Amino acid sequence: MDGMIPAEGPATVKQHLIDPEICIRCNTCEATCSIGAITHDDNNYVVDSSICNGCMDCVAPCPTGAIDNWFHVSVPFSLDEQYLWQELPPRPPEPVPAAVEELDPEVAALLADAHRGAGGKACAPASAAKPRVNLFNRAAPAMARVAGNIRVTKSGTSSDVHHIILDFGSTPFPVLEGQSIGIVPPGADEQGRPHAMRLYSISSARDGEKPGSNNLALTVKRVAEPREDGTVFRGVASNYVCDLKVGDSVPVVGPFGATFLMPDDPDADILMFCTGTGSAPFRGFTERRRRLGVEGRGRLHLFFGARTPEELPYFGPLQKVPGGVLRQELVYSRVPGAPKEYVQDRLRARGEEVAALLRRPGTHAYVCGLRGLEDGLDAVLTEIATRAGLDWPQLRAEMREQGRWHVETY
Ligand SMILES: Cc1cc2nc3c(=O)[nH]c(=O)nc-3n(C[C@H](O)[C@H](O)[C@H](O)COP(=O)(O)OP(=O)(O)OC[C@H]3O[C@@H](n4cnc5c(N)ncnc54)[C@H](O)[C@@H]3O)c2cc1C
Ligand code: SF4
Ligand code: SF4
Repeated sequence: MDGMIPAEGPATVKQHLIDPEICIRCNTCEATCSIGAITHDDNNYVVDSSICNGCMDCVAPCPTGAIDNWFHVSVPFSLDEQYLWQELPPRPPEPVPAAVEELDPEVAALLADAHRGAGGKACAPASAAKPRVNLFNRAAPAMARVAGNIRVTKSGTSSDVHHIILDFGSTPFPVLEGQSIGIVPPGADEQGRPHAMRLYSISSARDGEKPGSNNLALTVKRVAEPREDGTVFRGVASNYVCDLKVGDSVPVVGPFGATFLMPDDPDADILMFCTGTGSAPFRGFTERRRRLGVEGRGRLHLFFGARTPEELPYFGPLQKVPGGVLRQELVYSRVPGAPKEYVQDRLRARGEEVAALLRRPGTHAYVCGLRGLEDGLDAVLTEIATRAGLDWPQLRAEMREQGRWHVETY
């Protein structure tokens, strides 16, 4: 759990502290902490570092955010010291920002696998906003209400993708574009164990489907694949999510993800490569840029592959996004009477433009969706880079180290 994560460099512990300047002494945290780590005197509410296990249970209910302070210290502040404070002491430097992804082993394993294609340790864009992670866990999930469930691929096609809106009501559930949430399907597997958690990318902007709404959207593909014996294999979680009805209550875990985030820089160009539900985070990126309305030099460049326009999620809404925000390359591989075209083919055709973008120090590139996309993409980027006199493996490594190359595949 989160409380005492050892940091790199000199040995430090992560200490949970309450900001006395913001705290309104409402007692919510003390009442929430089931193991008695929080106490108070006439002056302050304080956390006992020898008891707190960093479970985060007290964070979401705190009405002010005063509770959410985590310092890396070599010697924890004692209760007596904390009782005397009028304000927090100066914040020591953060030693390992990436450690936030390692808090929940089940999620850490899923994310490590999803980011494996980046070829090294993922890191967030330098300008990205600071994400919140692990606010809600399996034992104490946030309860969301289904506010909408719409199919976003044409009915009759084999690609059944749903846009699901989850409303958190009065529960704070802060997210950034590019983060994921966890859903644990109800029931148990064949061995009688609770189902494994599945991650789903957030496909709305940080401020909700409409600015200021406390909701988020998901883009989920129903896994329903015919087997050779004539039966159909139905994915556990995707069918649960795609079958949700408006008004249903869903336990949500998370949010998760501290690296696959958008640069907060209007001059940054963002290259996005996806098929199918890999478009989910890019819908969030696009909406964020569109809402900000800031005039920067940077543009979003989307390379999105599908079999046909009818199977391309959000095909209709995409047509309405202004070209000044999003340049779209929609590519189809199964349109009757037309030659097959894949994302790689379109990229090759736009090679010079793509190479020019890759040369810019402000360009960030993102790959999202099914793992199968990675190899072809890497091959064509190598080809484009070589033609432009660039060494793609070296450039990719540099971009990754600078938080500008991001892969999330599953
Ligand atoms: C970071 C991250 C973000 C993600 N974001 C999204 C998203 O935005 N949208 C989305 O839809 N998904 C997303 N996923 C994938 C998602 O987490 C689930 O893996 C997916 O929905 C399938 O889950 P399931 O429970 O329906 O299938 P499961 O019950 O887990 O079954 C899937 C497994 O069954 C196997 N399988 C498939 N077909 C058959 C068959 N015919 N016979 C036998 N086995 C079969 C597959 O190989 C796969 O291993 C994401 C994953 C990660 C890691
Ligand atoms: S819940 Fe927050 S505001 Fe209330 S006492 Fe605890 S830290 Fe202070
Ligand atoms: S993080 Fe958990 S253990 Fe620590 S004070 Fe909050 S509720 Fe108690």
